[in-house]
Amino acid sequence: MSENADSLWSLRPLDSWSPGGNRLDVFGPCSAESEEQLTRAAEGLVALERPFVFRAGIWKPRTRPGSFEGLGVTALPWLKSIKARFNIPVITEVAKAEHVEACLEHDIDMLWIGARTTVNPFSVQEIADALNGVDIPILVKNPIHPDLSLWIGALERVMGAGIKSVAAIHRGFHYHDNRPYRNMPNWELPIELKRLHPKLPIICDISHIAGSPDLLHQVAQRALDLMMDGLHVEVHPDPQEALSDARQQIDPDALEYLFKGLRVSRRAVNDPIFIAELEKLRSQIDEIDTRIVELLVERMKVVEEIGEQKRDKGVSIFQLKRWKAIIEHYMSQGSEEGLSGSFLREVVEAIHSESIDIQQRIMDGRMMDQSKS
Ligand code: PEP
Ligand code: MN
Repeated sequence: MSENADSLWSLRPLDSWSPGGNRLDVFGPCSAESEEQLTRAAEGLVALERPFVFRAGIWKPRTRPGSFEGLGVTALPWLKSIKARFNIPVITEVAKAEHVEACLEHDIDMLWIGARTTVNPFSVQEIADALNGVDIPILVKNPIHPDLSLWIGALERVMGAGIKSVAAIHRGFHYHDNRPYRNMPNWELPIELKRLHPKLPIICDISHIAGSPDLLHQVAQRALDLMMDGLHVEVHPDPQEALSDARQQIDPDALEYLFKGLRVSRRAVNDPIFIAELEKLRSQIDEIDTRIVELLVERMKVVEEIGEQKRDKGVSIFQLKRWKAIIEHYMSQGSEEGLSGSFLREVVEAIHSESIDIQQRIMDGRMMDQSKS
């Protein structure tokens, strides 16, 4: 990494700006609907006696027109009075410079950039420019689709404006079919983000991943097991009556119940016997991984041979009957051994797609040879 990038990523530690020390939890309704609704939400949350940042959306980026799009600046004085009355930091979503300016005028403590804004470098840059010279924490949600560079790029634009208190929010990714979630978690993306930038706090927006209260627990547990730095949960005093995202919001009592059921993993390992045992098992894993790679290399060599034969005989690469048989082979052998269907499906699809690419290259080679002759 260049010196420049290094200094860009020299962030202020989370415990110097989060009300929860080395954790950052964000709770509150999807949207600000009335001063009374915000007050009831804050009262219920403060009663849980957990440090948190109070959230409420004021400008709502809705996928389709006609749904509740937020109350705009009208709601900003309400957030400001929640902050003063309950002595809690408040946060809202911004999507353009005008939003940033209005929030700063109303002493909003932190801002987040939403998933539909992170996708657009022009909008993120506009927000970053409006933040120049301002020193407040900025949280950046992942873009709607699983593009890690775009997420990192948005964080870099914000940091480029001189912001040093930054966190990422993992809120899942949109696919054509997200079942059973509202947005697919793709845990490997926040894990890779953490690997690249270990000092960047990442919190998990379990509400927008789960999409319904019954899935919140499993998503939250996974986030904690992956050592995420906190949770972002939509909490409404009357979830069923909510003007946006009614299906996924929970009330403060349900939030308390959710936390009671979570197993909190210890952050660091320092028991020498445990470390030795872990090392032993990890070296077994390393050996197995080496064998897996060797087997994949061996498989792809056979794939190449088949590709050459298909090329010589003019047979098409993709054979539906054979593909069905391969899937069936994986699914039946793997599920007998207790592997999940979705995992097996992903593995076989990745292997098959690489095999097709290899054979495609062989076919293209022949086409090039023909064009030369
Ligand atoms: C929200 O947090 O209310 C929101 C609009 O989220 P996202 O940008 O993740 O869709
Ligand atoms: Mn929402």
